[in-house]
Amino acid sequence: MKGVPFSDFQAQVRSLRTEIDSAIGRVLDSGWFVLGPEGEAFERELAQALGAEDAVCVGNGTEAIQLALEALGIGPGDEVVTTSLSAAFTALAVLRTGARPVFVDVDPSTLNLSPEGIERVLNPRTKALLPVHLYGNPADMTSILGIADKKGIVVVEDACQAHGARFSGRFAGTLGVAGALSFYPTKNLGGLGDGGAVLVKEAGLAARIRQLRNGGQSDRYRHEEAGINSRLDEIQAAVLRAKLGHLESWTARRRAIAELYRRGLSGTGLSIPATTEGAVHHLFVVRHPRRDRFMAALRERGIGTLIHYPIPLHLQPAFASLGPKPGDLPAAEQAASQVLSLPLYPELTDAQAHEVVDAVREVLRTLPA
Ligand SMILES: *Cc1c(COP(=O)(O)O)cnc(C)c1O
Repeated sequence: MKGVPFSDFQAQVRSLRTEIDSAIGRVLDSGWFVLGPEGEAFERELAQALGAEDAVCVGNGTEAIQLALEALGIGPGDEVVTTSLSAAFTALAVLRTGARPVFVDVDPSTLNLSPEGIERVLNPRTKALLPVHLYGNPADMTSILGIADKKGIVVVEDACQAHGARFSGRFAGTLGVAGALSFYPTKNLGGLGDGGAVLVKEAGLAARIRQLRNGGQSDRYRHEEAGINSRLDEIQAAVLRAKLGHLESWTARRRAIAELYRRGLSGTGLSIPATTEGAVHHLFVVRHPRRDRFMAALRERGIGTLIHYPIPLHLQPAFASLGPKPGDLPAAEQAASQVLSLPLYPELTDAQAHEVVDAVREVLRTLPA
């Protein structure tokens, strides 16, 4: 038994070292470091790879969500409906616009935003739906787009965990009016630092986001509106261009490992959230009623795990005043107490994946699910 770490960024950097060095070298030689040719090329290549009309790169995924909402005119007095089971950054982005995030329960089988939950909180202040494609598995976009259509409001997708995921053949992030991506190092397409992008259909919306990300300037030193500084630097863009070419094969590898886990863990009684074939398996999540003991027993066997996420957003101290109250979103609350993520990244070997399966099966003998 060698143990399997939860993540291994060095492995990817090692395997792409020559490409990364030459990408960085190109930027050093150009002498141009923020908003330049690498960023423009990456925006084109990203949009092309993910079937979007346009892509606007920004500083991180949180600001990708914030700027998409702001560019759509969403702000103080408005409500944005989102899931209670996500990275807190989803809701922080909404709060930065001045709008109020309204947390909704999850579907207990997929752990994605529940369409029935959305219906219950709609009111005249609701201006947008913000589904998260949690763990890389697309949310139920047919129902979500249907609700938005009926109500005449927009859908902005938090696709920060779902680069290249597909729903009914279309890429996550291109189903709503805008889709946010993050290039944080742990994501399916990760840079060597922070980064993000908004996938956009409409040229006017893309132009507005480009203005907002650069201080609201319409022209050099003319600030048409109060934007923010959220620009992707040229080094990140160059590195991401090199990595983008590998996204498809990385996704295939993630799917193969997820399948290996699914087969290996079938019949153990361990509950695994349902995914669709378009999922890109950002995380492989299982549920255990005594999660913390389960996690500790795996740690003793050298298996690294993490919890995504231990506190549902409506119970986070930062958001508790927004409601709902404890007990109001039971599926999200129960999931938060039971979920555990196993190691899953493209560089994980079959031998490592089998070691994880064997360790989980062994632990389940003394700690049944
Ligand atoms: C990572 C992530 C974000 C935030 O992205 P950053 O680049 O870290 O700002 C938002 N939502 C979800 C679901 C994420 O996984």
